[in-house]
Amino acid sequence: MEELLEQLLEDCRHYTAQGKLANYIPELTKGNINDLGIYVVRSDGRHYQAGDYNKQFSIQSIVKPILLLLGLMDNGVDYVRSKIGVEATGKPFDAINVTDQQLLSDHLNPMVNMGAIAMCTLVKGADYQERFQRLLELTRLLAGNPDIQVDEAVYLSEKRTGNKNRALAFLLKSSGMIDDNVEQVLDCYFRACSIKVSCKDLANIGFALTNRGKMLQTDERLFPSQYARYVNAILMTCGMYDGSGDFAVKVGVPAKSGVGGGIMAVVPTRMGIGIFSPGLDDKGNSLAGIKVLERLSQRMYLSIF
Ligand code: GLU
Repeated sequence: MEELLEQLLEDCRHYTAQGKLANYIPELTKGNINDLGIYVVRSDGRHYQAGDYNKQFSIQSIVKPILLLLGLMDNGVDYVRSKIGVEATGKPFDAINVTDQQLLSDHLNPMVNMGAIAMCTLVKGADYQERFQRLLELTRLLAGNPDIQVDEAVYLSEKRTGNKNRALAFLLKSSGMIDDNVEQVLDCYFRACSIKVSCKDLANIGFALTNRGKMLQTDERLFPSQYARYVNAILMTCGMYDGSGDFAVKVGVPAKSGVGGGIMAVVPTRMGIGIFSPGLDDKGNSLAGIKVLERLSQRMYLSIF
């Protein structure tokens, strides 16, 4: 398996430089476009890795499924569903034109920015610091890594330049869909996106979703399997933004990308996969990362379809 991963990285290495580093968050332009790594955790407990699997990068939108999970753990399915819809938007991650009519909860999706910003308000906590801390703790638990921290430089960079996200948050506020102080909600969102992870962390988080809430090492159940079904279904339909249909056809497993260059893939009952390559395609998905996943899916018959 390790040989296969090495081979796939070799075959796809030339794609890394064809992508572009995200530049709307200035700190992300400091990434190395040539990085490429993969980590796979299988249901028998074995794990395999290749390339730059140890490098750290900001989780960015891959925090959205964790945020959704925490929202579900705090409020249950019915309440979350009543506040934030589940339809694929077919739009870019930061789309503002989700509807020409009045904005409704059904226009939101937890895997795109506006829905994820709204999701921050559903997390329980005395204040937004506590809410974020709970999200960080859940991320550490799912990844089995108590050392996960925030990348302060990315957080500050995103907070300084995140005016599109501010616009989305104010739109939510003006539509009566969030009540709280917009800057506090956004601060939680920006911090969430700036959590630093590696391919191994993403593979472990993905594994918890494939295993429907049960942790590999301890067999402890962290969340009900119903929540994994909910999250995985939305990952399948909207996890790769407006590239989700193409990804479903070519790879065929629930997955989430982030503009930091990470992809977390969830192969139901079989494996969690973490990939990193910071060069992005025009949809904001890791270009070489998708190529590696396409080949891995073909070689190992991963598609669920
Ligand atoms: N922090 C990024 C933003 O909100 C996340 C986008 C992404 O990873 O797709 O713009």
